[in-house]
Amino acid sequence: MATPKHLSTIKRFGARYGRRVKERFASVERSQRSKHKCPYCNKVAARFKAVGIWECKNCKSRFTGKAFSPTKKIITKIEKAVVAVQKAD
Ligand SMILES: [Zn+2]
Repeated sequence: MATPKHLSTIKRFGARYGRRVKERFASVERSQRSKHKCPYCNKVAARFKAVGIWECKNCKSRFTGKAFSPTKKIITKIEKAVVAVQKAD
């Protein structure tokens, strides 16, 4: 069975640890390895340096954030409703 592309980073675990755990880990790792918006220059260039430390490749600033993403993403009920309405259109 072929592994879906978005789960390709967890191939290294083989058949171990279970599907659900690996899928959750893949989503965290995807966020960790992708570029994020820099709070100083607003460019999507901030990358993971170490746990809680982020570095912008554009303005060379180094700043602290959450462990696996620079900011905590909180989706409120209102935002969920807005997204649902947008999808309906
Ligand atoms: Zn920057």
